[in-house]
Amino acid sequence: MLPGKNDRYSRQVLFSGIGEAGQQRIQGAALCVVGCGALGSFQAEALVRAGIGRLRIIDRDYVDYSNLQRQFLYSEDDARDEVPKAIAASRRLRQLNHHVEVEPLVTDLTPSNAEELAGECDLILDGTDNFETRYLLNDLSVKRNLPWIYGAAIGSYGIAMPVAPDRGPCFACVFPEPPKGLQPTCDANGVLASATASIAALQVAMALRLIVGWLDFESLIHTIDVWSGAAKQVSAGARDPECRVCGRREFAYLDGRRRVPVSLCGRNAVQLHETARPLDLQQLASRLRPFGEVRVNEFALRLAVPKYDLTFFPDGRAIVKGTTDVGIARSLYAKLVGS
Ligand SMILES: [Zn+2]
Repeated sequence: MLPGKNDRYSRQVLFSGIGEAGQQRIQGAALCVVGCGALGSFQAEALVRAGIGRLRIIDRDYVDYSNLQRQFLYSEDDARDEVPKAIAASRRLRQLNHHVEVEPLVTDLTPSNAEELAGECDLILDGTDNFETRYLLNDLSVKRNLPWIYGAAIGSYGIAMPVAPDRGPCFACVFPEPPKGLQPTCDANGVLASATASIAALQVAMALRLIVGWLDFESLIHTIDVWSGAAKQVSAGARDPECRVCGRREFAYLDGRRRVPVSLCGRNAVQLHETARPLDLQQLASRLRPFGEVRVNEFALRLAVPKYDLTFFPDGRAIVKGTTDVGIARSLYAKLVGS
């Protein structure tokens, strides 16, 4: 016979910040994890073990052997069978706590589905790897007054911040525009499991704190470097009355106006019309050489990797040959150039 819920959650209930009343709130909460990679898979496991009522997992990617070093929940079998991450995660999560309703969705979060898929939950956890989706989450959060927890990690370093739109600055108040130029990515620069787990653990604690009632909520940006051990908190500041999102309530990402346009080009290729990010092709070439064969001149850079052929232009545009799936093309760009 399975022991009751009381035994299962006793250590969490004993913690004074949660207690019986807090545990009831946790068990009544519906959360959404967007992106189930290193951050998201840790968040999902911790939330399911904590006994949240319902968990929706949104991820379109498949488990790969290079994920196993840091992505909780996934097994060698999942990588061998290329199981969608949302499905592999939900199978494992149901073994960990059958009381939790887990809803896997194998899809990208986009302007056209974000409100339907994530707008009804109580809180969103950021497990994504790109700014475009984070600005989309932030638009949704401000529009619906729905809190979300930002998190990101690369190398040994990570950052996390809770966003509660009615109680502090939104993400766009703090980071008004996405970074320009070539950005570090986990695929190009590597990442430690201890960094992603530390950030995801902070995100989960912030989420639980908001669910049980965070009375003295303060918008702090937390950073940690697990290699040096340096951890810092800095104030995220006050709301910017001129902020395009929470000040002027312009939801450009949710309306789809700020999304990098993509078009099908040729029989089996996708073009990304990214022109807000000029690329230094020589710099990009030295980054991409470990991935495959690179040919570069002043007009274009060609990269051949298994299954795909990519061409990058100095103005930031790219053509991905080998697919008609715009999600794959966007994902390759984010992994190789940054986002
Ligand atoms: Zn704002």
